[in-house]
Formats: sequence, C-alpha cells, structure tokens
Amino acid sequence: MNTTKYVILGGGMVAGYAAKEMVDRGLKPGELAIVSADSALPYERPPLSKSFLSGKDNEASILINGRDWYREHGIEMRLRTVIEHVDPTGRRIRTGSGEEFEFQNLLLATGASARQLDCPGNQLHDVFYLRSLKDSENIRSRAATAKQAVVIGGGFIGMEVASVLAQKKIQTTLVIREDRVWRRMFTPAMSAFFERYYVARAVRIVKNGNIAALEGTEVVRAVLLNDGQKISCDMVIIGVGAVPVTEPFEGNGIAIDSGVVVNEYLEGNYPGVYAAGDVANYPDPIFGTRRRVEHWDNAVSQGQHWARVILGDRQPFVHVPYFFSDVFDLSYELWGDSGGSTETVVRGDLNSSSFSVWWLKDKRLVAAFVMKRPDEERQIAPEWIKAGQTVSSENLGNPNRSVLEAMQR
Ligand code: NAP
Repeated sequence: MNTTKYVILGGGMVAGYAAKEMVDRGLKPGELAIVSADSALPYERPPLSKSFLSGKDNEASILINGRDWYREHGIEMRLRTVIEHVDPTGRRIRTGSGEEFEFQNLLLATGASARQLDCPGNQLHDVFYLRSLKDSENIRSRAATAKQAVVIGGGFIGMEVASVLAQKKIQTTLVIREDRVWRRMFTPAMSAFFERYYVARAVRIVKNGNIAALEGTEVVRAVLLNDGQKISCDMVIIGVGAVPVTEPFEGNGIAIDSGVVVNEYLEGNYPGVYAAGDVANYPDPIFGTRRRVEHWDNAVSQGQHWARVILGDRQPFVHVPYFFSDVFDLSYELWGDSGGSTETVVRGDLNSSSFSVWWLKDKRLVAAFVMKRPDEERQIAPEWIKAGQTVSSENLGNPNRSVLEAMQR
C-alpha cells in the first residue's frame, strides 16, 4: 500500500499544471503522486493537432514540466498505470495489477477519449484518431509519405488536422456531416469565411457527408459515402468528438452525469474527491448553468484552481470559458457561450482575416470571437462577459468608434 497525501488520477494537462502550482505553493517531497495510463510525462495537448503534428515541435518541447522536474520535487510519477477501482469512502484507488494507493485528497483528471466512428472498415490500418502524443506521432509519420488524406469531422480536430495536412501538400478532403464547418460555434458567415480560406488552400470540403464505410483490404484505400461517392485516400483521420473517461469510478457512488459532477470548489459528492478538466461537470456561476469544457484553458485553470483549494485557498471556480485555435496562418480566440444569444455584431471585415464577432443576449455580451484585432478587443471580451456588461450594438458595430465606446453604463 502506498500512502500519499494527494493523488491525481490522470497524467494530462490538469496534472501537469496542478503539480506546478502545488510546487510553487510549497508542496513537500513525497506528498503528491500522479497515476497515469499514458506512457509520457504530462504534455501540452494543443500542439498535437498543430505544431507537433506539423513537425515544428518535439516531445521535449511540449512537456509541461521538464523530465527531471518531478523527481527533483519528490513527486511520484506512475506512468503506464491503469486504475481499475476507486473507493471514495475507503480513500483508496487500485491499479490493474492490484497495487493500492491511499489518499487524503484525490483529483479525478482522466480527461476524455476519442469518440469512435461506428462504420465498417473502422479497424483498417492507417485509420487514425487523435488524442495522445503517440496518436499524433503515428499520424505525423504516416503523413510523411501520404499523397491523399480524408479527414472526417467538422470540429477542432478536423479543421486543425486538415490545415496541417494541406500544408504538407497532401491532397486533403474534409468530410463533415453538417452543412457548414464549425457549425456549433460559428455564425453562417464565419463558417463561410473559413470554408473559403480552406478551399483557397486546396482543401476539398464535402458537406452533408455521411460515411457508409472505410474501404480497403488491410489498409484503408477509400472512404465511401452514403450517396455513393468514393474518395480515394491512403490515410483517414477521424475527429468526431470526445467522451469523458468515467469507467473507473462508475458504480462506486461517485456522482456521474456527463462527467463527474462537482461543486463550485470542484469537489464531488465525497469530501476530498475532486475532478477537473475534460471530465468535470462543474457549475458556471457566470452563465448560471453546468458545463463540461474540453479545452486547454479549462484543464490549466481547473488544475491550478484545485491546487489552490486543497492547499487552503478555498474559493469558488469562476471562469469565463475560453479556447483558441490555429489553422493555416490564422489564430483566433473565443470567450464565453453564445447559446441563447439574440444578436450578433461584427467588427472588421469578414472578407479579410481581421474581424471580431460579438454575441449579445438582451444587450449583454455573452461571447466574443477575436482574430487579428486590436489588443483592447481581446482584453475587454472576457471582462465584459464576466461582468454581464450591457453594450450598444450600434456603437459596437461602428468601425469609427473604439470598442470601449460600446459600453453602456
Ligand atoms: P468536436 O470539436 O466536438 O467536433 C466533432 C465534430 O464531429 C462535430 O463537427 C460533430 O458534428 C461531428 N460528429 C460527431 N459525431 C459524428 C459522427 N458520428 N459522424 C460524423 N461527424 C460527427 O470534436 P473533435 O474535433 O473530435 O475534438 C475532440 C476534442 O478535442 C474536443 O473536445 C475538442 O474541443 C478538443 N480539441 C480542442 C482543440 C482546441 O481547443 N483548439 C483542438 C483540438 C481538439 P455535430 O456538431 O453535428 O455533433
């Protein structure tokens, strides 16, 4: 039996940033263990579909803390270790090999796994999902000689991977089941902007495309759509969403409902058992709803927040949802939640790559997208969303006025 004051279950970004915060706040050697099914130390995940995939980054450059850092700070790293059972009342976790860890505080940070596409041919060689460093390495290595690729899914993985492959001069077809890209988050005009950008850079986009089968004998050779269209390829990358990893704690009394249900301190229904990152279903007091967020910023900020809570600074987690994406030479950011918005206002030009989009709900700012815009727009977006700031849409949309002039007192 290993007895450790703090145990983090899952060795992803939450663990990397929580450990860093704990060390900065005086963690003592021997107090923290991180148990991870992954074979790599905690790494940044955004580069896996961007700079690592393109070859600009390597494993060492995306580690959150250096190779020796965990040893130097007396943090026990258990890699390639799968947890099979969590006992929240006995305060123990058990690995697949029967080893047990006893804890005072446990953080469930198991993240999410790639949703599988249910279609014939899914198991063929050169069909990839992207979640881990290893997945990204495998895609990168196959892409080195590939001529034609099909990317399935019109979300983050689909858009980011398609842009990397196209830049490697691979003939890339993006197949999406929706009628436009990034449909869930963007207005039709924004989707149209990105579609034009991709098509101009040689990505073919097939909309309303439902996959009938992946074809090939051992290795994938084509993607067959329900309408009979066949797209030849020598690799397929599937990005059709992610599902929270909750199996190890199901049936143990831990409240689960689309992830682990936690309170404003990220604590679940057993004292001392917390969850953070992709797996945590947490209350968002800014929007008055519960949410589960699968983005880098959420993993980082919740990991750090948990560290502060258990080290005595017990504050509620109050945070404006945020993400960013890089595709081709574009980088954008999005804050907030546009659900239920009643109005959108554009600043800049949707025919250029410099614009921002502001979603209002009953005159209050609820979400903002910003790409290549003055810094003041980036700065006020999260502030105003957090404050529920009322704005004048007329002033906001007026190119001759600064964004600050849209504020209504
Ligand atoms: P995603 O962004 O949720 O997009 C999934 C896409 O696949 C959506 O367009 C979805 O359409 C579609 N889809 C779902 N089920 C499908 C099916 N059975 N057949 C065809 N299409 C289907 O998920 P992802 O791109 O796979 O990314 C995985 C996770 O990694 C996400 O949580 C994402 O946030 C995260 N990630 C984030 C970033 C970033 O923050 N920049 C980058 C990479 C990955 P509907 O909308 O109609 O469901």
